[in-house]
Amino acid sequence: MILAGMTLGELEDLMNKLGATKFRAKQVHNWIYAKSVSTIDEMTNLSKDFREQLKETASVTETKVKIKQVSKDGTIKYLVEFPDGECVETVLMRFDNRANLTACVSSQVGCAVNCSFCATGKGGFKRNLTYQEIIEQVLTIQRDTGLKVTNIVFMGQGEPLLNLDNVLKALDIFNNDFQIGARRITISTSGIIPGINKLSELELQSTLAISLHAPNHDLRRELMPIENRYPINELKKSLKNYIDKTGRRITIEYILIHGFNDNPAVAKELANLLKDLKCNINLIPYNSVIENDYKKPSSNDIMKFKYLLEHSGKKVTVRLERGADIDAACGQLRGRERAQKGE
Ligand code: SAH
Ligand code: SF4
Repeated sequence: MILAGMTLGELEDLMNKLGATKFRAKQVHNWIYAKSVSTIDEMTNLSKDFREQLKETASVTETKVKIKQVSKDGTIKYLVEFPDGECVETVLMRFDNRANLTACVSSQVGCAVNCSFCATGKGGFKRNLTYQEIIEQVLTIQRDTGLKVTNIVFMGQGEPLLNLDNVLKALDIFNNDFQIGARRITISTSGIIPGINKLSELELQSTLAISLHAPNHDLRRELMPIENRYPINELKKSLKNYIDKTGRRITIEYILIHGFNDNPAVAKELANLLKDLKCNINLIPYNSVIENDYKKPSSNDIMKFKYLLEHSGKKVTVRLERGADIDAACGQLRGRERAQKGE
């Protein structure tokens, strides 16, 4: 049995079966989520006999760090390996002027959505992660750094709304067991309408980020095949409903690709599309990760695009490039591993 991923209630049941008190469950819980140990032997306020007894039925984790890369800017990237040999990427980002430690987690091994610009999509879909595997990524960071993660973004590999049950269970554990507030968690989606509708019903209090990347159907479908299934006008309706139901402001993510979706006419079209939507906009300069014809936008074009959008009264940010020296963008590290293995 693996302890990481168990709730306090589940640990209490386990302690009960082992003839131990509820208080033991609290102690073990604290070792797993606050002190982030990786072995039962490190739980030094439990008696040696009890540790031995616990070790007969349980261990803390089976997750390994396969590769770790530290960037000059403080970003750390891990390739995490699960017992079946599958790997996903997890990134820890620090932002200079804040005490926040943000974990960027994966929700699936690979991704079936297959956006044209994304390294993960190019590798195809392997499998969903379990909720334990999602939370293990945050525990891996905490164990390795000895620090507590304060914010989580589902912006690693995979489409979180196509693995919603595990993502929701992981959210619960992040809230209740890690004590990370819902508002410090962001779920990023390519626009899976049934999933967004489900989150509206649940009145999600986390931030929803939508990978929009284009202001109209024709341009968007060139980047994202999912546009054929869930077209932008339907997507906008479901987002309006989401905002009404939850009262929350959403984030619109927009990859800027030179000569494709970064010109002033497109900026105006985007501003028009978003004017009646309660949202902030995050511009992401395209990061060239795979062989294709896309190019990074120029700084001048980024600033012009930003300026035109700001005219619409929205808050617009440009995502800083993090960990460029360690392949910290979506899907790159796992992609490189696969290439080396000849997959
Ligand atoms: N599947 C979800 C979440 C993971 S992708 C989604 O697409 O929203 C997280 C973010 O990384 C998305 O906004 C995605 O568009 C972005 N991304 C993927 N490949 C990129 C690249 N080559 N350059 C810049 N951003 C990229
Ligand atoms: Fe999947 Fe997101 Fe990559 Fe698109 S951008 S292929 S949805 S991980």
